[in-house]
Amino acid sequence: MKDNNITRRDFLKTAGIAAAAATVAACTSKGKAGSSQTDGLGEMTLRKNNKGEDIAILGYGCMRWPTFPPDENGQKEIDQEAVNAMVDYAIEHGVTYFDTAPIYLQGKSEAATGLALKRHPRESFTIATKLSTQRGEPTRERSLKMYYASFENLQVDYIDYYLLHSIGGGDDPMAKLKERFFDNGVLDFLVEERKAGHIRNLGWSFHGDVRVFDYMLSLHDQGKYIWDFVQIQMNYIDWKNAHTRDEEEVNAEYMYNELAKRGIPVVIMEPLLGGALAHINDHFAEQLLTREPQKSIASWAFRFCGTHPGVMCVLSGMTYMENLVDNVSTYSPLKPLNEEELAILEDIAQEYVKYPLIPCTACQYCMPCPYGINIPAVFAHYNKCLNEGFINEDTQSEQYRKARRAYLISLDRNVETIRQANHCIGCGQCISSCPQHIAIPSQMRRIDIYTEKLKRNG
Ligand code: SF4
Ligand code: SF4
Repeated sequence: MKDNNITRRDFLKTAGIAAAAATVAACTSKGKAGSSQTDGLGEMTLRKNNKGEDIAILGYGCMRWPTFPPDENGQKEIDQEAVNAMVDYAIEHGVTYFDTAPIYLQGKSEAATGLALKRHPRESFTIATKLSTQRGEPTRERSLKMYYASFENLQVDYIDYYLLHSIGGGDDPMAKLKERFFDNGVLDFLVEERKAGHIRNLGWSFHGDVRVFDYMLSLHDQGKYIWDFVQIQMNYIDWKNAHTRDEEEVNAEYMYNELAKRGIPVVIMEPLLGGALAHINDHFAEQLLTREPQKSIASWAFRFCGTHPGVMCVLSGMTYMENLVDNVSTYSPLKPLNEEELAILEDIAQEYVKYPLIPCTACQYCMPCPYGINIPAVFAHYNKCLNEGFINEDTQSEQYRKARRAYLISLDRNVETIRQANHCIGCGQCISSCPQHIAIPSQMRRIDIYTEKLKRNG
């Protein structure tokens, strides 16, 4: 199969920016929002928080720090040296906002983020972390323990942005919200912490049921609880399309507009839809490359988010230096999309949603699976094959023969045999954890059937 997508690596080669990435080890912190020091880039675009403070538009999502290969138990250690180099480069190029959570990277993200940031002046960065009680018992005791542990892990005495993590999900989202934050008095406690200056900004991240979203904004409207910022999933696919297509789901345009009209700064997660928008299929990619041959496909997705003025910060979970360099380039400074460019992305989005992709963003909230299934890797492989046109129903064609072979070979390379879909027993323990509301067991079954069919048709 022909693959003429420009990859981020190709882009860097073309633009000659890769060399800059290699020099990061020697960089020093300037501690100034928006300062881009080298590489022929301009200043990074800045936005304001609700205190009028500057925030660089590119935020660092710390859920995908580089790791060493997993040990025999699937445990991954974070490559701290690589993290330090990425953080250094980010701060040197104006990034100010670092977003982590107690549950990221098997509970190791906060400490790694804290270690890397500790090497920089406190005023040169802001930290966002979260109360991640979406799994387990959300007792007051456990919640406060998690809250205080974040200060220790991050080695800070105040947290710039604190979020109620991933609200709107679960079987009964409203009951879950109340159980996690209201009935146990935890939200009132956090409001007191904000008054005391231990939290500088209080907000929440949202996935799911629009009734919860509207309820939270109604509290703000009534002055019962004031939200300093809100984090939503937004990208050009989800803009007009609710990302899980469930009845109570809501699209990003609605959420953005509701927040913008209240003047609540918006933080964006999943601007690339779990990485999918960096690798859209050739047909879509050609339309973008024709207009901007020197720019990566991912840059369009970042520009889309930045084009909306109510967006304070766009998070990207950058594992590789090439991604960081590319994103810094896109936002130094941001070139907003014009009406014609927005229309192209909307056309792509309308086509894209016709593909039966699984909306997995690789957030890992469903992991570990007690039966060892590598859920995000199974979905990522399937989506990649679908996106790249591997899946073709004409079993007699030469393209099918090649596609079949490519699918099966890359499956074994990307997902260990014992962690593939056919080992899912359908226990359903993962379902309630998924913020994208994916019916994980039935999708596993579907992928298993599909894979078996490919094996038989050989
Ligand atoms: S349903 Fe399948 S993937 Fe989900 S926890 Fe059970 S075995 Fe794992
Ligand atoms: S299946 Fe859901 S919870 Fe699991 S990684 Fe994907 S989006 Fe996250």
